[in-house]
Formats: sequence, structure tokens, C-alpha cells
Amino acid sequence: MVATVVLSMLCVHLLCFSGMFLLISTRLHGKKMGTDVFALGSLLLGFAYLLQLRGGPAGWSAMSVLNHTLTLCAPAAYALGAARFFDRPVPVALPLLVLAGGYTVAQWLVQVLLGSEARYALLAAACAALFLAMAAVLIYGTRTFARHLRAEMAVFAVLIGGLGAMNAAKLALILSGGLDNLDMGSDFQTAFYIYMSFLGTLLPPAVVWLVLHRLTDDLHVMAVHDPLTGLLNRRGLMGALESQFRANPVAVAHLLIVDIDHFKRINDTYGHKVGDLVLCSVAQVLQHTARQGDLVCRLGGEEFVVIAFDTDSAGALRAAERVREAIEQSRVGTDTAHRAIRCTATVGISKPFAGAEALDETLQLADAALYRGKVLGRNRVECAQGLQAPGLPA
Ligand code: GH3
Ligand code: MG
Ligand code: MG
Repeated sequence: MVATVVLSMLCVHLLCFSGMFLLISTRLHGKKMGTDVFALGSLLLGFAYLLQLRGGPAGWSAMSVLNHTLTLCAPAAYALGAARFFDRPVPVALPLLVLAGGYTVAQWLVQVLLGSEARYALLAAACAALFLAMAAVLIYGTRTFARHLRAEMAVFAVLIGGLGAMNAAKLALILSGGLDNLDMGSDFQTAFYIYMSFLGTLLPPAVVWLVLHRLTDDLHVMAVHDPLTGLLNRRGLMGALESQFRANPVAVAHLLIVDIDHFKRINDTYGHKVGDLVLCSVAQVLQHTARQGDLVCRLGGEEFVVIAFDTDSAGALRAAERVREAIEQSRVGTDTAHRAIRCTATVGISKPFAGAEALDETLQLADAALYRGKVLGRNRVECAQGLQAPGLPA
């Protein structure tokens, strides 16, 4: 009686969660993170348990065969959904159809050759193997593909491993006492369905939480990066500066502002698309020229910022000259004109600064130096007023 009530509740949960996953997947355009496959898994399991409720005592019937096939395909669907969540582009329909067809044939063979007991034992063994394999993959994932979700994956592994263990116990019970042990009133079936109901209630919201985790992480990455070049944007620069100065409160940095010369002419001559290629090329040059630990950002338009840490004014000047020269040497190929475009940039260097809150003021100082560089003929490096750099007027 208890097992029947618990099983009914589990059916309702699974069918509701199936609808919820489906609705979530319709809101996720492009990357669905496996939510559509989780919807399918919940639907299959919900139907399997509906059949279980209507099927009566264990035995040989078309409904029972379908029930066993769905019971095995549902966790397989969850496993494929999890692979999609971790960005593995696995197919879903074909493997599930092959599994469903193959397992139905296997059931028929086992039933004919060995009888009903062996068919139920086969399901328990297959489910135990599948759940234990899923738990093993999740444990492996805590060190590899799911390192950033280590705690969550460890909890999932324990819960799913528990389900594997319960199926192994079911197998042992069938082998020792036959199908009578699968009576819905037995203590084992009650415990089994209470555990299933616990997982059926806990795991879907946990998966939704993981999806939200991924979505907010992706949103954060998008919010702090420039979509064209992939460099940090101004907000990202601010955040990165805050964490650098938090990690090393005595750090001192110099800011280089880099502005491509006559970029409007490049756009006007070759078109906006080629202009974008030039921006990407300059972004790459800056990334290759910057030292490890320095920050590179696209401030907007054709203006970039490099933050050089752990260097004095002479070092910042050398870095700026390296940047200017590397941009002058670089060439951007265009597919249409078979011509390589050249460009130059002017660089303004700030005075040393310490603390992210000084960013605006430092930018203004470097911008004033940049403006002087433009007036003095472009393709040159200019230092902010008061910067002590040998070889340059302070
Ligand atoms: P100067 O040497 O004085 O810096 O001249 P400039 O032409 O580089 O500077 P100006 O500010 O006159 O022009 C900047 C141009 O950059 C104008 C704008 O259309 C273009 N621009 C801004 N953002 C983008 C972008 O994302 N892609 C492309 N292709 N062009 C952009
Ligand atoms: Mg410019
Ligand atoms: Mg500009």
C-alpha cells in the first residue's frame, strides 16, 4: 500500500518535472544544456512507473516488457542529457532507439529461454550496472570535466551510486527468493520506492540549479568581455583590477592606452568588416606582446588598454614601444583584395597607480598623453605629465 502511494506520487513528480524541463529548454536558444533530454528521461520514467502501477503482479505481459524497456531507457536518457550538459555533442534519438529495440529483443529471448524471474533479474542487473557506471563517471568528472562542480558531482555520485546498490540488492533478492520478493507490499519494494521518490524529488531541482549556475556563469563571462575581440571590456577590466590589487595590495601598475591611427580611413576604404578584422588583429598583437599577468582590454571603438604590473616607468615605456612596434609590423590579410593592410597606433602612458578606484583618473592622464601623440604626428609613444621615464620629457 505504502509503495503504491509513493509510486503514484513519484509518477506525478516525474511528469511535472518533465514538463518543467521542457519549458526551460524552450527558453534556452541554441545551447539547451541537456534540459530537453532530461525532459525525455523524466517522461520515460514517469510512464514506466504508470505502467508499473497498472501492471499488477510481476509476470510476463506486453505492458511489463514495455515497462522494463522504459525503466532502462530513462536513466540512459539522463546520462545522455548529462553529457550534453557538459558540452559533449552526443546523439540522443538513435542510441535510445537502439537500446529500446535491443533490450526488448533481449527480454523476449531471456523470457523464452530462462523465464520471468531471469527477465526481472536482467533489469535489476542492467540498472545496477548503468547507475554504478554513472556514479563512476561522476566521480571521474570531479577531477576532470566537472572540476568546477566538484561538490555537486560528488553528491550526485553518492545518490546515484545508492540507486545502483539498491538495484544490485534487488537482483540478489530475485536470485535468492524469486519474484515473490518484488511484491509491492514487501519491505524492500517500500524502501526502494521511498528512495526513488526521494531522488525523483531532489535531483530535478538540483539539475535546474546546475543549469542556472551555468547560465549565470555564461552571463558573467559575456558581461565582462568584448564580443568582437574576446578581450576584457571596461567592466571586466575594473573587476580584474580589483582582484589583482586585492591579491597584492602593494602592487603598482602603469596604464597604456593604445589607439589605432586613422582607423576611420580603414573602415571607409575597405569596409566595416575589414575594420573588424583589423581590430581583432590588433587585439591579438596586444595579447601576444603583453607579459603574463598584465591585463589587456578593449575600451571601445579602436581604443585598447594594457595594464602593466610589476614594472617601473622605464619598463612601462619599453612595453609601450614594444606594442607600438608590433602593431606597425603586423599585417592583416583580406580575402578579397589579396592585399595586406597595415596600421599604426599611438600609445599614451599613465603615471604609476595603485588601486582600481584610480582607474578613471589614470585613464584621463593617459588619454591626455595619447592626444599629444596624435597631435605630434601619430605612431608614437607619449608619457603622461610628470612620468619619470629616462629618455622622454617628464
Ligand atoms: P585618430 O588617428 O585620430 O585616432 O583617428 P581615427 O580615425 O582612428 O579615430 P576616429 O575617432 O575619428 O574614428 C574611429 C572610428 O572607429 C569611427 C568608428 O566608426 C570606428 N569604429 C568604432 N567601433 C568600431 C567597430 O567595432 N568596428 C569597426 N569596423 N569600426 C569601429
Ligand atoms: Mg584612432
Ligand atoms: Mg579613438
